[in-house]
Amino acid sequence: RNPDQWCRSFCHFIGQCLIKDFEARPSVTHLLEHPFIKQAHGKDVALSQQLATLIREQQNVGIIMSLASYRHERINTRKTLIIESCPDDDLVNLEFLDEETIISHLQKRYDELQVYTYVGDILIALNPFQNLSIYSPQFSKLYHGVKRADNPPHIFATADAAYQGMVTFCKDQCIIISGESGAGKTESAHLIVQHLTFLGKANNRTLREKILQVNPLVEAFGNACTAINDNSSRFGKYLEMKFTPTGAVMGAKISEYLLEKSRVIKQAAGEKNFHIFYYIYAGLYHEDKLKNYRLPDKTPPRYIDSQHCKVMQDIVSSKLYKEQFDAIQDCFRIIGFTEEEVNSVYRILSAILNTGNIEFTAITSQHQTDKSEVPNSEALENAASLLSIGSEELQEALTSHCVVTRGETIIRTNTVDKATDVRDAMSKALYGRLFSWIVNRINSLLARQAKGEQKNGMNVGILDIFGFENFKKNSFEQLCINIANEQIQFYFNQHIFALEQMEYQSEGVDASLVEYEDNRPILDMFLQKPMGLLSLLDEESRFPQATDQTLVDKFEDNLRCKYFWIPKRVELCFGIQHYAGKVLYNVNGFLEKNRDTLPADIVVVLRTSENKLLQQLFSSPLTKTVMLPMQSVSRCLACFCVQYVHFVNACVQVDTMEMMRHPEETTNMRRQTVASYFRYSLMDLLSKMVVGQPHFVRCIKPNDDRQALRFNKDRVMVQLRYTGILETVNIRRQGYSHRILFEDFVNRYYYLAFRAHQMPEISKENAVAILKQAKLEKWVLGKTKVFLKYYHVEQLNLLLREV
Ligand code: ATP
Ligand code: MG
Repeated sequence: RNPDQWCRSFCHFIGQCLIKDFEARPSVTHLLEHPFIKQAHGKDVALSQQLATLIREQQNVGIIMSLASYRHERINTRKTLIIESCPDDDLVNLEFLDEETIISHLQKRYDELQVYTYVGDILIALNPFQNLSIYSPQFSKLYHGVKRADNPPHIFATADAAYQGMVTFCKDQCIIISGESGAGKTESAHLIVQHLTFLGKANNRTLREKILQVNPLVEAFGNACTAINDNSSRFGKYLEMKFTPTGAVMGAKISEYLLEKSRVIKQAAGEKNFHIFYYIYAGLYHEDKLKNYRLPDKTPPRYIDSQHCKVMQDIVSSKLYKEQFDAIQDCFRIIGFTEEEVNSVYRILSAILNTGNIEFTAITSQHQTDKSEVPNSEALENAASLLSIGSEELQEALTSHCVVTRGETIIRTNTVDKATDVRDAMSKALYGRLFSWIVNRINSLLARQAKGEQKNGMNVGILDIFGFENFKKNSFEQLCINIANEQIQFYFNQHIFALEQMEYQSEGVDASLVEYEDNRPILDMFLQKPMGLLSLLDEESRFPQATDQTLVDKFEDNLRCKYFWIPKRVELCFGIQHYAGKVLYNVNGFLEKNRDTLPADIVVVLRTSENKLLQQLFSSPLTKTVMLPMQSVSRCLACFCVQYVHFVNACVQVDTMEMMRHPEETTNMRRQTVASYFRYSLMDLLSKMVVGQPHFVRCIKPNDDRQALRFNKDRVMVQLRYTGILETVNIRRQGYSHRILFEDFVNRYYYLAFRAHQMPEISKENAVAILKQAKLEKWVLGKTKVFLKYYHVEQLNLLLREV
């Protein structure tokens, strides 16, 4: 009755039953001889119903891929079998381009477990919320160096395009993965790394193994279970994979942004601390080593059970945590950390947990009421011992502080609240620095691999940044995360819309202008100096007397734009109309979080440690500095557009050429706040991204219940709308994703129309001659460039290979 549906179901079914058979005997003849196929050709209705039931019960998309892999034998076989799946692989091919059509296409594809769809060269990835059998090495092979249209859309195809782009054009590439929390960014990033290591010619197996361990290791320290996602990234990550000019992988480098350190000391209801704490607890328990690390075995430390709802047994008996602990041990070993280093890492983590258990009580005497002491010294002594420092010195640094006035040093005591704050600040600082150290250490261990190899390699960068967040209660962390997402969205818009239009205009190519939601005014509102939200926050953070109320008042007095408002009925809140929706922020704790101070007294004590790693962490100002020489940013942006440069200049104007100092550092210089550090990090990230050719992966969360096969139209619609997919479809349809200077074009492709030794003159006419010889259609000529669609370039490269 519905042959189209029938054929699709049929394909799934074969996948279910015969995939192993195919792998063992990859022959199309064998496949076509199979009774199921024969009967199916007869369009047996009863059978089709039976198949449909089976498919509903055990979905499998593997077959689509497997069949495609036989294209080498008989490409037409695939075409007859997967009849209708090709045209809607790319939304750009749709005849009608309204929201409804797009969404129903995506839904139809999702129902058939086709989770990937193209919009021109952008990949939409719907989270399947179940394991698909489409990521094996066979699939990596399948997507290696072929034309995109030969296979169904896939994350490997995007990784492949980046790799081919790097090798062919000798240009750095950058894959930007965006989407809400839980949409699948981190999983996508893993798959990209997997495919790139496959492509980067695995002649160095050790290096390949090392690179594959980087993500799991860093994520154990930087990811945590949140209300939305059990493995939510609590930091931004930019992983650069380094290749030789011939495309062999030679190393990797990771940059981290904005770790959510506050999670170490407190988690919201239903959320957890960073994974690593649970892993070491379960792992050390099984190895009977809790005592060695002075970890309590009856009640879980407060930091990993801030809601007081977990029993120790839940943590230590978790098979998953134990397995993860073993996996992390392997990661450390494979990447090349020494045993001593790993031991120091565990000691610092255990020290943090013990620090969280230090309690203070007030000492009230006739003269003094603001003094505190540690009534039960067990946790204090444990922490001090693990950090290899004196417990008395630690107690002193927690319960008092030095003040220098008119050249004299006076010791003041800390109240219980103040001492508690100092304790938590110390834990956050320890964890933050430990995390940065691990990242730096990985970088140096992976960089070493490049020795002896050519230095001037190329990169594919992969950006996996925390997704847009909108909780019931949103704080400073959400504000930073959402600003970072605004920035990524801006970058996307610039690429897809603004730059595209500008280039058409300057080249005299006709392109009807496409309307899009420009989020630049919102970004300006946040980042501008001196009246942007972050600058105002900094200014207020410098006043010791400032309160939450004075901060809200300052925002209200100075931020006059339609994207900002103060709600009437909710106290100490402000609202922002982000590109992805309205978010209400509660300013409670904003000032303190922004100041993020670590008293000098604590630094002094920690520096006395005999532990080498700890000494390193606190010996000098943090090595993780962001140098942002204005010129280099402008230079790399200059190739984009003037408007963009203005934007970046506006962001960095005041602090150019200044060394970024970590906010925790207390120095005589004006102290850096988290907000200004954040601004730098963003610019640093942007400067890395803009030098490469970008590829975009837009992850979409089909439902909020993390259920497979559940497609919530409204939720998807919202995400499609704010990510600008609809406009993207439009512009990509009309668009020319490749614009190549006549000179480059003729140099690269003249073999196709001229004799190899007959280098023709560089001219528009010769470019046309090549295009005609290659029998391409629908290309356009600008004043200095050939404008090509993505499939033209694929075709040209294929022809070149044949020549
Ligand atoms: P956050 O912003 O919170 O870090 P995220 O976008 O990185 O979120 P992921 O952690 O990648 O989200 O994905 C959330 C969950 O969705 C994963 O733990 C996994 O269960 C599932 N998932 C995502 N992508 C895939 C996939 N390709 N195949 C199977 N499951 C997936
Ligand atoms: Mg993530």
